[in-house]
Amino acid sequence: MDTVNHQFRLAARPQGMPDRSNWDYAEEPVREPADGELLVQVLYVSLDPAMRGWMNDSRSYIPAVGIGEVMRAIAVGRVVASRHPDFAEGDHVTGLFGIQEYATLPADGIRKVDASLAPLPVHLNTLGMPGMTAYFGLLDVGRAQPGDTVVVSGAAGAVGSAAGQIAKLKGCRVVGIAGGQDKCRLLTEELGFDAAIDYKTEDLEASLRESCPDRVDVYFDNVGGEVLDAVLPRLARGARVVICGAISQYNSREIRGPSNYLSLLVNRASMTGFVVFDYADRYAEAGREMGAWMASGQLESREHVVEGLETFPETLLELFSGGNTGKLVLQVARA
Ligand code: NAP
Repeated sequence: MDTVNHQFRLAARPQGMPDRSNWDYAEEPVREPADGELLVQVLYVSLDPAMRGWMNDSRSYIPAVGIGEVMRAIAVGRVVASRHPDFAEGDHVTGLFGIQEYATLPADGIRKVDASLAPLPVHLNTLGMPGMTAYFGLLDVGRAQPGDTVVVSGAAGAVGSAAGQIAKLKGCRVVGIAGGQDKCRLLTEELGFDAAIDYKTEDLEASLRESCPDRVDVYFDNVGGEVLDAVLPRLARGARVVICGAISQYNSREIRGPSNYLSLLVNRASMTGFVVFDYADRYAEAGREMGAWMASGQLESREHVVEGLETFPETLLELFSGGNTGKLVLQVARA
């Protein structure tokens, strides 16, 4: 096959914030699929904070990306050639296709997506991994109940905006923490949050006292660091702190732990980490409920789409500067 595949390979492990020097922009001929394999044209790639962790050479819930390997990424694409009976040319599919234009890979672990249900980027957001993370993190790990006060950090991002909206749908009072007035307005005026706090300009502790008069029953934490420290003293008795992520720490050499953790003791509270992949056998259940909420207009899915594979190194950094509102997606080709 004469088609050329452009791709980003990990060239060096970053110290701190990644930059262009961490990547090789490489090209190679597209490989024809063997028996049991598919050739997929990548259309949209999900850019996730977790990618920063996969660039490190340290133990995690998934192996590090090796030096010289194509950067791992969840994506949606279109089958160009199939050597597997369950897939046909033209099917839309999702899987770990990586930061590249074409992926030739075994069909195991690849799932079809129904583009008539929602635009393709939504399958990387509310109907994909971030939506599942919000759903199971809030309802299973956080055990949010009607009447609970739920605080969500990173609230205008992919996981946070879904978690806050689901909490509202379940009858909770919801307070979002996000960076900037525009994001805070989006939360209260468009996504139905009861209150929003701009952690970049407000006194977080004072604003939390004001917006959570009955204290905090569930804290869904996406950011860690100072924000986690500010929420911990506001916990209610029996509160659940959901450690979904800690984006404020991902580029640090020294991870800052919670200094106010004794609030867990005083309030008989718990702090629990989770990884969404452990819920894979329940994705269909969550997908049905999330899909129904979206169809009835009760759950909004926002995607922040940036065009062009070659922008990947800079676009990834939007996650750490707060440049994205909703799910950050890289468009690689026209659907
Ligand atoms: P996202 O929230 O769409 O994007 C990241 C956002 O984090 C940015 O827009 C920025 O928003 C905020 N941020 C960046 N640096 C920050 C800092 N120093 N302090 C406070 N906020 C900061 O990303 P996402 O994909 O939805 O992921 C959110 C979190 O969930 C991440 O921690 C991710 O690792 C985690 N996650 C966990 C799982 C799991 O299985 N446990 C699965 C998926 C994602 P502002 O403008 O508001 O600062």
